[in-house]
Amino acid sequence: MQPEMYAYKCTACGHLHHPAHFVCVQCGSREFEQAVLAGEGTLLTYTRVYNLPEGYMKPFIAFGIVEFPNGLRAAGQMGTDELRLGMKVRAEVGVVKEGVGQDFYGFIFHKAE
Ligand SMILES: [Zn+2]
Repeated sequence: MQPEMYAYKCTACGHLHHPAHFVCVQCGSREFEQAVLAGEGTLLTYTRVYNLPEGYMKPFIAFGIVEFPNGLRAAGQMGTDELRLGMKVRAEVGVVKEGVGQDFYGFIFHKAE
């Protein structure tokens, strides 16, 4: 089963956060519940980072800001080099850093079918 990406919903006012916050940015509450970030997101903007730390086996990594159907915006690594503003993407677990040493896993935005 594919792990799911979560937002953190304030139980007092309903405002969504990602990543998790200790205090709601809208109302100051400290109570949250997990909400699945389901469906396809829309790529709002992206950038490519070429000056990577030692140990990366890629010429660059792309990062994007994605808006989900519920309005939440999340930043993350992009899993495709064919990036286009407005394209539909889906969050999947993958290797976010590979190469020399240990691999690290996290959510990557891939082009939706
Ligand atoms: Zn709140």
